Amino acid sequence: MSKLQAYIDERKELNLQELVELLKIPSVSTDPALAGDVSNCARRMGELMTEAGLETEIFETKGHPIVYGERLEAPGAPTVLVYGHYDVQPSDPDDQWDSPPFEPTEKDGYLYARGATDDKGQFYALIKGIQASREVNGKLPCNVKVLCEGEEEVGSPNLDPFIRKELDRLSCDIVFISDCSQFGIDMPAITYGLKGLCYLEVFVKGPSTDLHSGTFGGSVANPANVLTCLMAACQGPDGKIAIPGFYDDVRPLEDWERAMMAELPFDEEEFRKSVGAVKVFGEAGYTTLERKGARPTLDINGMISGFTGEGAKTVLPATASCKFSMRLVPDQDPDKIATLVSDFLNEMAPDTVEVEVRPHHGASPVIVSRDGTAVKAAEKALETGFGNRPVFVREGGSIPVVNTFQEALGAESLLVGLGLPDDNLHAPNEHFRIVDFHRGAVTMAAFLEEYGKGGD
Ligand SMILES: [Zn+2]
Repeated sequence: MSKLQAYIDERKELNLQELVELLKIPSVSTDPALAGDVSNCARRMGELMTEAGLETEIFETKGHPIVYGERLEAPGAPTVLVYGHYDVQPSDPDDQWDSPPFEPTEKDGYLYARGATDDKGQFYALIKGIQASREVNGKLPCNVKVLCEGEEEVGSPNLDPFIRKELDRLSCDIVFISDCSQFGIDMPAITYGLKGLCYLEVFVKGPSTDLHSGTFGGSVANPANVLTCLMAACQGPDGKIAIPGFYDDVRPLEDWERAMMAELPFDEEEFRKSVGAVKVFGEAGYTTLERKGARPTLDINGMISGFTGEGAKTVLPATASCKFSMRLVPDQDPDKIATLVSDFLNEMAPDTVEVEVRPHHGASPVIVSRDGTAVKAAEKALETGFGNRPVFVREGGSIPVVNTFQEALGAESLLVGLGLPDDNLHAPNEHFRIVDFHRGAVTMAAFLEEYGKGGD
């Protein structure tokens, strides 16, 4: 391992300089005026991947290009697919940046730029790790495929069809993704669980038009009153979701998971202050970290009804509607949950109104077995790269491409965050800790070595 460390140490300045050049390109995927820069960034990324020893190809799509590279020189060894994205979020509000977003600036050991952590910095660390592994060993210990898209920040509209069309090209044993974060400084993390999503909208229709609440109130049902009753019936005051069958497929938290989460240095009071809540709240019987990462939830996202302007208007609204979402955990199925909830609301609804439930989008929850050889290899690799064993975390968010990899390629994803939770991604003054960029490269190289020999 020391040879590898020495190789990366020697190239630190060069690697960082290459990243700086990438960060200068404003590859904002949502802005049509910057489409040329997005393409340039794809081409530059392709050149750098070629220099790192990958056979690289650029695939045009209906939107921004996909950069793909591979080096398959380890017959019998497993294949790793590295996924990342070279596009970035818009930089505005630009006046809130301390240094210009596309003029990367070093300060106090951090590199400031749009994309520094999300995801150019994290992704490029992996590329540098692949290169180091190949140059130090003469060849790669695993087969490596690299998929870098330019539309992650706009919902990856062309990635899904690309993956489903290129199943052979992309076939792999594990997907390696660094597009998340460590648990804290010097506390590398492996995210082994992601929540899924079921998003619904319910419409309650009453009288044909808004009515005078004095003349008509009490003689016809008020859709807003009905809607609030219906939504209130979905969850008890103890935070438990009251929809029959909702928890049927929930995989219970295992004792080791609860013990592990309890040991994480999580300060509940700090957390409470950071969100500005009067008190923390959630499902009875679970800790805040368990609720955040590993228990299903239901939240109203917005409600529309009646008069919401300045002053008072005595109206009985004709309609009321509500958008709400449920974050799901393994093994809940978003379609099954949508049906359960919709049936529940229809059954609860009084016959004085019409109720309709419409589904929006959904995503399946994900959990990666902690016992797999890839996870074990990543655990060792992070210890080599960061000097500390990683903690295992479950996240409340969803990463839809992880589901596509699972469904289309039958491959699980390893989510290895190199950034920090307060890197300001999607916000002004985005930054990446420079030492973690280099450690990320060491981690990737160490992972290929460990995984290549079976991860034992
Ligand atoms: Zn990202």
